[in-house]
Amino acid sequence: MLEISGLDVHYDGVHALRGLSLTVGKGEIVALLGNNGAGKTTTLSAVSGLVRPSGGTVVFEGEDITGSAAHKITGRGLVHAPEGRRIFSTLTVHDNLLLGGYLVRDQAEIRRRIDHVYGLLPRLAERRAQQGGTLSGGEQQMLAIGRAMVTGPRLLLLDEPSMGLAPLVVAQVMELIADINASGTAVLLVEQNASAALKIAHRGYVLENGVGTLSGSGDELRSDPRVVEAYLGGA
Ligand code: ATP
Repeated sequence: MLEISGLDVHYDGVHALRGLSLTVGKGEIVALLGNNGAGKTTTLSAVSGLVRPSGGTVVFEGEDITGSAAHKITGRGLVHAPEGRRIFSTLTVHDNLLLGGYLVRDQAEIRRRIDHVYGLLPRLAERRAQQGGTLSGGEQQMLAIGRAMVTGPRLLLLDEPSMGLAPLVVAQVMELIADINASGTAVLLVEQNASAALKIAHRGYVLENGVGTLSGSGDELRSDPRVVEAYLGGA
């Protein structure tokens, strides 16, 4: 459903992506792994229209969306969830979720999607009247993902959802992503936490200095000595 081919991104003086190609199929969770500065966030931004690529193409469900405006891409069902701390801290949990429905006209559909999120995340349902900023880090991350779900994605782009979270909470966030995927949404998951991401990913890619260097199934990557050495903390 997503095909990235030969993608190049330049910032002033920095060649951040160099001919990256990757695909995400219907129903898949695909992990994009790499160290700080490898170009993972840039990849998501180039797909979702926040950064204009200098070369290559992005095709979503058969349509060339390279360089399209971000809101048009979101409207097509390709949704980029912001990093967890970017929820609205003075709004309630429920109002944060309602904001996810800003492109949706059908109020009953918004209610149905919010109920689905509360079903996946009973902790958020219990806290629906609480201000977003008073949630724990893990709960804020889940709210950010929940809000993206209300937008109605067929493909969800997630940028380091494990960042800053304790291992137990990371496991809960990964479980949520697997549940979302099981309910029919494809996921492109950017993670520095390769171990957590490869537990749920069907396939993955490794990015180094803007270049895709390795790819394979989750199991292949998890047992690849180069991945073990560089991203899984040694043998
Ligand atoms: P991290 O895991 O640290 O977030 P990343 O893999 O997501 O890293 P990117 O944020 O995509 O990496 O950055 C890739 C390269 O592009 C880095 O060298 C970074 O300094 C550079 N870069 C990113 N955004 C900009 C920008 N707005 N202007 C200039 N250079 C940028």
